[in-house]
Amino acid sequence: MSLLKKAIDWGTRKSPWIIHFNAGSCNGCDIEIVDALTPRFDLERLGILQRGTPRHADILVCTGAVTLQTKDRLKQIYDQMPEPKFVIATGTCACSGGVFNGCYCVMGGIDSVIPVDVYIPGCAVRPEAIISAVAKLLGALEAQQKGGGKDADRRSDHSQVSREIQYFEG
Ligand code: SF4
Repeated sequence: MSLLKKAIDWGTRKSPWIIHFNAGSCNGCDIEIVDALTPRFDLERLGILQRGTPRHADILVCTGAVTLQTKDRLKQIYDQMPEPKFVIATGTCACSGGVFNGCYCVMGGIDSVIPVDVYIPGCAVRPEAIISAVAKLLGALEAQQKGGGKDADRRSDHSQVSREIQYFEG
């Protein structure tokens, strides 16, 4: 494993930066994400910082069902994030479309546009579930990085982590 890859793995694990995107939520889940970032729940104790640009982010935290209006923007934000990148679908709407599924302007859950690594069901999700999901994602990533072979590339790491933690119970 090269020194650069080791440094990137360490940085991703120890201080992942997140970006938040509302794909069509009612704002209930967004308020819970903001709550998780406040000193009361203190997501920063895990080294997690919120960033304003996808180019600096490791984890995309999405809320809401994807609408026709937001689908291109969601894809654009995902494409701008550097590898390795992870996606968390926060709330029932983000997981499956929820109560908005079937509306003329709704495409479905986040995974109807981009791949999702962690699903957190709930309406709205609780901050503890968000923190637990991020911690579980980092734990699975660390285990994968430690157990990864010399030739394992980032894409395969990503796929393995995805398989391990899909359908996280919030
Ligand atoms: S899961 Fe509930 S709180 Fe969250 S966006 Fe959907 S309707 Fe709103």
